[in-house]
Amino acid sequence: MPTLTGSCICRNIEYELKLVSNDDARTSLCHCRNCKKAFGTNYGLTAKVPKDTFNLTKGIPKEHIADNGSGAVIYREFCQNCGSFILEYGDAAKDHFRYICVGSLDDPEALPPKGEFFCKARASWMPEIPNVFHKQMVKE
Ligand SMILES: [Zn+2]
Ligand SMILES: [Zn+2]
Repeated sequence: MPTLTGSCICRNIEYELKLVSNDDARTSLCHCRNCKKAFGTNYGLTAKVPKDTFNLTKGIPKEHIADNGSGAVIYREFCQNCGSFILEYGDAAKDHFRYICVGSLDDPEALPPKGEFFCKARASWMPEIPNVFHKQMVKE
């Protein structure tokens, strides 16, 4: 059973992901406006994992809860010291999944992307990732 570790940049927050296989994680890019704002860049990059596979091992993140602009409530967790974005989840997925910010993993290459969401909002200069699924809209 692979255990992946991650943290914020100041390491006040640390976590473990205990996946049965790395294939249980679904990493995706999301080009929606809300992800652009939350990540502070031109897309969001998260790995969807079963909720029970995620364990905080150090620190308590700060939570920010807001409507994403299309009626869904999104929970986002950050380090209150350095501000690193750790994870997010929507109301619908709350009891079952966590979306881990892939850059917070100690080895971000462990979970390569399987798809892209909100491709209609892709930055004009950004190429498509080859050999993954592409959806114009919804993040599921
Ligand atoms: Zn931190
Ligand atoms: Zn998004």
